[in-house]
Amino acid sequence: MPLYEYECAVCSGSFEVILDLDETAPPCPNCGGDECRKLIGAPAVHIKADQATGRIEKRVKGYLRAGKVKDAVRFADKASSMVKSDKVKQIADKLHQKSGE
Ligand SMILES: [Zn+2]
Repeated sequence: MPLYEYECAVCSGSFEVILDLDETAPPCPNCGGDECRKLIGAPAVHIKADQATGRIEKRVKGYLRAGKVKDAVRFADKASSMVKSDKVKQIADKLHQKSGE
């Protein structure tokens, strides 16, 4: 699955995101800034499903902690469509039950 590393022009923080190819840069998760740029020398890399699962879980938990259940569901759905992993699918299914969607 494609994973991109971005750097925020506002707070200089870097973060990784899973994106579809035609998607634009996401806002910075640290400060909400929207001037993030894809890091040079960090092209899309394909990581293994078991490595991805931990990142996905972490991200979903972050959304849930912030009370963003809908975002968590959306992210998990997207992740499970990109990563062939039963664990990710379970996470997505659980979120759907939790959110009632
Ligand atoms: Zn930032």
